[in-house]
Amino acid sequence: MAKQLLGKEVTAALNERIKGNVAALQEKGVNPTLCIIRVGENPSDISYEKGATKRCETLGVACEKILLPEDVAQDELLAVIDKVNKDDHIHGVLLFRPLPKHLDQAVIENALAAEKDVDCMTDLSMSGVFTGKKIGFPPCTPQACMEILDHYGIDCTGKKAVVIGRSLVVGKPAAMMLVKKNATVTICHTRTVDMPSVAKEADIVIVAAGRAGVIDAKYLRAGQTVIDVGINVNEEGKLCGDVNFADAEPVVDAITPVPGGVGSVTTSVLIEHVVDAALLKAGLDIL
Ligand code: NAD
Repeated sequence: MAKQLLGKEVTAALNERIKGNVAALQEKGVNPTLCIIRVGENPSDISYEKGATKRCETLGVACEKILLPEDVAQDELLAVIDKVNKDDHIHGVLLFRPLPKHLDQAVIENALAAEKDVDCMTDLSMSGVFTGKKIGFPPCTPQACMEILDHYGIDCTGKKAVVIGRSLVVGKPAAMMLVKKNATVTICHTRTVDMPSVAKEADIVIVAAGRAGVIDAKYLRAGQTVIDVGINVNEEGKLCGDVNFADAEPVVDAITPVPGGVGSVTTSVLIEHVVDAALLKAGLDIL
């Protein structure tokens, strides 16, 4: 039976650090504030928004929302971003994507100020992940994967890691973060030949394929650590990962469940970035 790598344990440790930093900010009269911009009524955006709002409340971070209709004009959205960029009391901004098709996503993403880009939406922030320079913040989900590995003392140095998925939101930055941790990394995608053999070579497997239960025991072996980034709803309407948990769990050494794994840690990483943005602006050290 595999060890379950539980998000709540990682989150508890992260939240302690965040609370300490929030207290330091409040002493200086600073109220760390996240602004969520949502276009339309996508249920998964609304669900993430609820989770983030609740976590902000728990941690003493203010959360403001700007809700825009699905047919919002590009200029109107750009004006909103310009306003939050200039608003001194907002420290971090989360804009849900993908945006509706009539909007030019690349233009809108890059309109946000890097210092408020708490989920690595801009090309400038993403360049920081690849160059190692401190620009903006890294994307929350791959950072959550690293927090899980760190919390459970899973050393990446010299290990083989496979990332399944090559999106710019998860797969590619996760691979860069693993390289930074001295792993030897392979990225798999839909055109990878003989993926089961490639994945079996790895000591650490991060799965971000966006397909429910697509990774099963034939991709895995004993001794591996598996981090499942996927969030899907299965045929029974239940939340599930990209890994077939029932099939994989008896095979590998350690695995994150879904729900209860990466998702919860991602929310705390987001709030941590908001608080860090506020600390940087106030000229205070990050604990
Ligand atoms: P995406 O659809 O943008 O990218 C999926 C990637 O996986 C693509 O590069 C594709 O080539 C690859 N892929 C698809 N099927 C594959 C297969 N059978 N074999 C190998 N590669 C395959 O998705 P994304 O935005 O990177 O998100 C990935 C998953 O993570 C989704 O389930 C998403 O819901 C979830 N997610 C979770 C969090 C979180 O906080 N836990 C945050 C963001 C995304």
